[in-house]
Amino acid sequence: MRLTVLGSGSRGNAILLDAGRTRLLVDVGFGVRTMAARLRACGTAPESITGVVLTHEHVDHAQGALDACARWGWPLYATRETLDALPTPVVPVREIVAGAPFSVGDVTGLGALVPHDAAACLAFVFEDRATGFRTGVALDLGTVPPALPGFLSQLDALVVESNHDEAMLRAGPYPWVLKQRILGERGHLSNDATAALVGACAHRGLRTVVLAHLSETNNTPALARTAVEAALARRGRVASSARAAIYTATQRTPLGPIAPRGPRLSSQLELTL
Ligand SMILES: [Zn+2]
Ligand SMILES: [Zn+2]
Repeated sequence: MRLTVLGSGSRGNAILLDAGRTRLLVDVGFGVRTMAARLRACGTAPESITGVVLTHEHVDHAQGALDACARWGWPLYATRETLDALPTPVVPVREIVAGAPFSVGDVTGLGALVPHDAAACLAFVFEDRATGFRTGVALDLGTVPPALPGFLSQLDALVVESNHDEAMLRAGPYPWVLKQRILGERGHLSNDATAALVGACAHRGLRTVVLAHLSETNNTPALARTAVEAALARRGRVASSARAAIYTATQRTPLGPIAPRGPRLSSQLELTL
């Protein structure tokens, strides 16, 4: 399963998971023209997309979803809460439920609710049934629920928000109300919170970590990366730290495609910890 972040941040998010015959998008937070341009820049024809899965209804995740689905005939996978928060779609809809597996072509998806100030917000694990390759996606969550590290275990690749450096946010230019929203339990993850989550999910098979949804005002790629590297080292997962390639996604430029490296190692977890 190849992974491309078409863009990520407060002005738009879209992730392409390419499992060969099945190509799915997680979120369409860009307009149709931008989506077409970025997909084609990554060598993917929009017509070849199998389906769209939405994490939640916020504009930076869903603003282009209905238009793009209508334009290219993509089916839309979302929770009832997310669908109800959007205009009525004129596209094929597949309602999904947290905790219930669903299929998009050759890929099985499973969602878990995460705390965020949306009607509902899901983190996902997507598994390519042909290869067993598992990619986790966790965007937009204010806190890490106790069950989330377990849900995101045994992954080959993880895309996770690392929204802000808490000190930069507190000292930065945002209005106090907005700072409180971002820092709140249903806001966004700090670098330190993300680092702790990645550390808890780390295992020998985790080869790719993409830090996403970085604030352009209250974070830097270097700070986000350093926090994750330090957390991995603190937890004594030196082998994991050395094996996992850590990337930072940006708002303007696609990242990827990132291809799986080496043999799939997730199944060897218990042998190495
Ligand atoms: Zn959101
Ligand atoms: Zn967002």
